[in-house]
Amino acid sequence: MEKIQMTTPLVEMDGDEMTRILWKMIKDELILPFVDLKTVYFDLGLPKRDETRDQITVEAAEATKKYGVAVKCATITPNAQRMDEYKLHEMWKSPNGTIRSLLDGTVFRAPITIPSIKPAVRNWEKPITIARHAYGDVYKSVEIRVNEPGTAKMVFNGADGQNEEVIIHEFKGPGVLQGMHNTDKSIRSFAHSCFKFAIDTKQDLWFSTKDTISKKYDGTFRKIFEEVYEEYKEQFEKLGIEYFYTLIDDAVARVIRSKGGYIWACKNYDGDVMSDMVSTAFGSLAMMTSVLVSPDGKYEYEAAHGTVTRHYYKYLKGEDTSTNPMATIFAWSGAMRKRGEMDQLPALQQFADKLEAACYATLNAGIVTKDLANLMEGVTPVTVNSEGFLKAIRERLEASL
Ligand code: NAP
Ligand code: MG
Repeated sequence: MEKIQMTTPLVEMDGDEMTRILWKMIKDELILPFVDLKTVYFDLGLPKRDETRDQITVEAAEATKKYGVAVKCATITPNAQRMDEYKLHEMWKSPNGTIRSLLDGTVFRAPITIPSIKPAVRNWEKPITIARHAYGDVYKSVEIRVNEPGTAKMVFNGADGQNEEVIIHEFKGPGVLQGMHNTDKSIRSFAHSCFKFAIDTKQDLWFSTKDTISKKYDGTFRKIFEEVYEEYKEQFEKLGIEYFYTLIDDAVARVIRSKGGYIWACKNYDGDVMSDMVSTAFGSLAMMTSVLVSPDGKYEYEAAHGTVTRHYYKYLKGEDTSTNPMATIFAWSGAMRKRGEMDQLPALQQFADKLEAACYATLNAGIVTKDLANLMEGVTPVTVNSEGFLKAIRERLEASL
């Protein structure tokens, strides 16, 4: 069989620990035998980041801007313990944070679902994708602990003369204060990424805030989404998908009663909390995919989980590990499908579909990694190690090609 050809390379970002091991296994077993893979390779493993003083992360993000589609392995975000472990020169920032801010992107997380793993919410039939606005609000707030009676004010001194002062509260005794902000630019970028991703995945887009209470702050979010929607309205109508705004509390109730199958765009805090709830209700962190979408349509695909450190230490001791590669495989298939779409390479798109179909067929046959064994209903699972799992996928992929 001739290998599938590519025209533009994918930006490939390698990573750390167990996922770095899986990364190579996935390429060797499931991609390189079938695709004449073209990538621009960046090693975002912690040793290389340290050696390049994290310049490699910036270069990888710049390459994503240039080529348009990237696939990323999970990476260590250093903390004090990692400083010692890797003898780091500095506590480098999270690569995901760096890439996200350089691309000005929004992260969309969606679960991979199969019939034998039932979500905790029984009426959910399709995945729910959460889009979290990742700038500002409480995450960039300042706070004061008030210890005595007094007046709290909010003051704005504009560079061009807008001067406003409002009383927040006349304190009669101790209390707390918080000042937070967001920018039209960031909210607008968030909205563009959401509408683009809804069109890409042909799903409805829900957006929720509390604009009845927060008329200016949350009201601005609502207004900007409405304005940006005008640019996408025609495409939405053509695809038969809907943009739907509702209050956050109403959204929560509707999500629980829904069948799933839409994107739920959330403000920063709501997205933080709701993405943990929704992903837990769908089952396993190992089955959660993640894609960063920039407002100008650049894509970076990855798994939502980390480097699975505990499994890596077992692997280093020569013990058998059963780490689930699903989300990392789907990062590759997602990136190849997108590359295929952009370069009009139907063979590459079909390969991505067949790779995912082979993964589903393997799981539906009951062949699973350890993390899924206890979650399956109605099938007797056969637990295999990571290699065995990839081999089972490869057999099915070969049969379908
Ligand atoms: P983690 O790597 O996601 O793993 C947490 C636990 O979840 C694992 O110990 C394992 O549970 C289970 N798990 C996660 N993925 C799995 C998979 N594919 N297959 C089977 N089980 C899986 O999170 P962490 O241990 O908190 O973080 C480890 C490192 O990853 C940290 O250095 C962190 O900075 C980094 N991290 C990176 C990213 C990213 O690059 N996007 C995201 C999060 C964390 P059991 O041990 O019970 O089997
Ligand atoms: Mg959280």
